[in-house]
Amino acid sequence: MHSASFIPILLLQLTFLAVLHGAKWTYNGPEGEHHWSKHYPYCGGAFQSPIDIKSELLRFDPTLRPIEIQNYNLSPNEQLTLGNNGHSVQISLPSKMHISSLPHRYTAAQLHFHWGSSGRPSGSEHTVNSKQYAAEMHVVHFNSDKYPNMSMAVDKSDGLAVLGVLIEVGEFNPAFEKFLRFINGIKYRDQRVQVPGFNIRALLPARLDEYYRYDGSLTTPPCYPSVLWTIFRNHVTISRKQFLDMATGLYSSHAQESSPVPLNGNFRKPQLVDSRVVLVSFKEADLSWINTGLLVTILVGSALGLVLIVPLLCCLFKQKRAGAEQDKSKGVGYNGSEKDEYGSRV
Ligand SMILES: [Zn+2]
Repeated sequence: MHSASFIPILLLQLTFLAVLHGAKWTYNGPEGEHHWSKHYPYCGGAFQSPIDIKSELLRFDPTLRPIEIQNYNLSPNEQLTLGNNGHSVQISLPSKMHISSLPHRYTAAQLHFHWGSSGRPSGSEHTVNSKQYAAEMHVVHFNSDKYPNMSMAVDKSDGLAVLGVLIEVGEFNPAFEKFLRFINGIKYRDQRVQVPGFNIRALLPARLDEYYRYDGSLTTPPCYPSVLWTIFRNHVTISRKQFLDMATGLYSSHAQESSPVPLNGNFRKPQLVDSRVVLVSFKEADLSWINTGLLVTILVGSALGLVLIVPLLCCLFKQKRAGAEQDKSKGVGYNGSEKDEYGSRV
């Protein structure tokens, strides 16, 4: 019993030392994700995120209510801080924003993004049946019923709730433009600008009732297993230009550093699922492959039908015409030989 309670304390102490001494971490190279657990032991532990959301992990849960969010529509008078922390672009959120449909109130703290690069526009953290999206947004909330602030909640098992939105390159997204138009002001690490408030709800997909739910972790060091994850089933789109604003316009290095390091490919790879299941709020399975199969069947069936039915109809039509002509010839007194000659043309 003593050793069981000692291990989490030791992990927290090691993590505290790493944070205190500013152990740096990156997504590639000698400080890349495979080395995170040296300084941040939880990164090598259980219940890690992201994961690949595979069909065989899914279990329908009829008790999962639609996500309800409050005060997401911010006035332009409220100033938000848009910042580059060297790992991501982050927007600070006011504490009146919260999720009201979970067993506790979860108060919003910040939202941020993970994305690919211009050459490889695949940078979502969660994948669905191995499909990686171009980018992913995380809206981070903490359990304000139980903890006074983010830093007290961040390492608690019921501390955080994150809403994840998968992002594909496609149609232009006016909601993303509300902060992307200020992105030139935060090119370098630790730069910040104030941006007018806007409707944060518009960054989420239209349907908030269809989502995946599982227990996981922060996807960056210290990787605490403290996150109740909600990944919306439906993705949103941003234009290619909007994607490139993030993927090519930012640096993970400070402005004064002589060789700037581009900030892109800032996603962690899928982690082991272990014994976890992913609950789903919606009943239909992913039928996209069946729909494709069905479409192919209908098309092939229609083509075959045309090939068979058209000659058959022609045949019947000609036979009918021949019959009519025969009747006509009978009527006008044509002889049998003429009938045979006409019949042979059928
Ligand atoms: Zn994140």
